Amino acid sequence: MVGFSLIYLENLSVNHTFVAKMTKKVIVIGAGVAGLSAAIYSRRAGYSVTVYEKGNCPGGVSTSWVRQGYTFDGGIHWLVGSSSRFQPFHKRWQETGALQENNPVIYSDPFFVFKSGDVSLRLWRDIDQLIKELVSFAPEDKKTLNTLKRHVQIIGTYMPAPQGPWDLVKMVIRLPLFVSLLIYLLRTSTRKYTERFSNPTVREMLSAILNPDQNALSIIATLTGYTMGDNGFPLGGSRRLADNMEQTALKAGCQFFYRSKVEKICIEDGSVKGVWVNNTFQKAEHVIVAMDTCTALQTLLEKPLHERWARKLQKGTDSEHCSLLSLGIKKDLSYLPSVMRIHLKESVKMAGHEYSTLWVYHYSSQEGYVPKGCSSLTILFQGDTYDYWKKAKEDDTYVAKKKTFTQKATQLLENYLPEIVGNIAVTDLATPITYERYCGCYRGGYMGIWHAKTLPPRVPAKSSTIRGLHFAGMRTFMSGGLPIAVQSGYYAAKSI
Ligand SMILES: Cc1cc2nc3c(=O)[nH]c(=O)nc-3n(C[C@H](O)[C@H](O)[C@H](O)COP(=O)(O)OP(=O)(O)OC[C@H]3O[C@@H](n4cnc5c(N)ncnc54)[C@H](O)[C@@H]3O)c2cc1C
Repeated sequence: MVGFSLIYLENLSVNHTFVAKMTKKVIVIGAGVAGLSAAIYSRRAGYSVTVYEKGNCPGGVSTSWVRQGYTFDGGIHWLVGSSSRFQPFHKRWQETGALQENNPVIYSDPFFVFKSGDVSLRLWRDIDQLIKELVSFAPEDKKTLNTLKRHVQIIGTYMPAPQGPWDLVKMVIRLPLFVSLLIYLLRTSTRKYTERFSNPTVREMLSAILNPDQNALSIIATLTGYTMGDNGFPLGGSRRLADNMEQTALKAGCQFFYRSKVEKICIEDGSVKGVWVNNTFQKAEHVIVAMDTCTALQTLLEKPLHERWARKLQKGTDSEHCSLLSLGIKKDLSYLPSVMRIHLKESVKMAGHEYSTLWVYHYSSQEGYVPKGCSSLTILFQGDTYDYWKKAKEDDTYVAKKKTFTQKATQLLENYLPEIVGNIAVTDLATPITYERYCGCYRGGYMGIWHAKTLPPRVPAKSSTIRGLHFAGMRTFMSGGLPIAVQSGYYAAKSI
């Protein structure tokens, strides 16, 4: 509050536009990465900013939590824009104070190790090294692997900022190739793209980079990020990044209210009037919806929004889902690769979904994350199991089913990592119901899926029919994720 008053007084005498804006109030719904970004940029534009968050801390789905001394990070695995060459995202992370000295970015190389039976293939950050390793394992795919390299190079011409005149020349020369490749990748799913490879293990490894339902641009863009020095991991993970952003917002003078769920957005005569929160009406000229747009449209408005994109989104949208199993292990596992994709000998059906690959992360090497000599593992079971868990919740079998899932999943993992047998100290399972309950995520999804051959709904930063209503967050651009969250917060603030 003191900082808030000082900034107010400091500007009172010098900037009349600023004073006019200061009398205007912006309410931000949600303190996820999008909400934090929207708050910072709105405040810097001179508005009085209040953030209401239904949970008890910043970060939203990008968070970490501690159980019996073990820290589990359930958010960032790689951060687009961690390198200064990847703009505008890097600029946003810098400007919002998300990346600071307290969370230097590390670039683990290989990014992950893919394990299938006795085979281990590494996703090297150097594209030549990666292709060399894959070609020596699967010479029959030499031609297709070289095409993959070419695709990464073409997309890579346009993703990082140009470093000099030669990069600009390359951009012009490669433009026709880029356009035709882009069209092809947007029309092809990652699953279809990987079918080009005849070796099944190479196919499985490439399919394990991302959800194979995303379009093929997603996998090529991700590989481009890895191989061109981006997609790092900021030490301290999700929580430190969110805490840094919250501190930036507080220093700028934003106010935060946690455990404060917004119940309704009040709209009269085509303009936003404020919100209902904690049983009180809070007046505002502008409201930035930085929670899941889909949920907000269905729950926070008295009447449907008559805009084309909103009608499309109100019918629902497809999302990435996971059940996230966290394990506290009484053993130092730092000798294991920090990221593994384990291909199962036989796929396993759990929670009504067939799993063939496990995404395993461990955080043993992070200081202060776990008790000395111990490790924490998180295992992503990727797939849409929302209906299964929702039904379990309704017929009161949720707790029992979570227990069964945890037991089955743990036994499964023990087959591949026998060193954890007898050493599991903590288990914790988050399901899509957890994301729905704690963060209001639509059907428990944590980001969108951009399917091949589709134009996903693009949520505008500002409503065209209701004055003062703005949107930010994971649904605003496909496929979503952290870079979209931070960038959309910036756009929402700019749209005021
Ligand atoms: C396991 C996992 C791994 C991931 N890995 C990556 C990764 O490596 N890289 C990447 O880019 N992305 C990753 N993501 C996705 C990324 O974390 C999210 O897409 C992003 O954090 C979404 O941010 P957001 O601010 O748009 O939404 P959210 O984080 O959902 O924030 C919305 C906030 O609004 C609050 N809220 C909801 N309803 C209300 C209400 N009525 N009143 C007040 N507050 C409300 C919620 O509590 C929440 O805090 C991952 C996600 C998960 C779950």
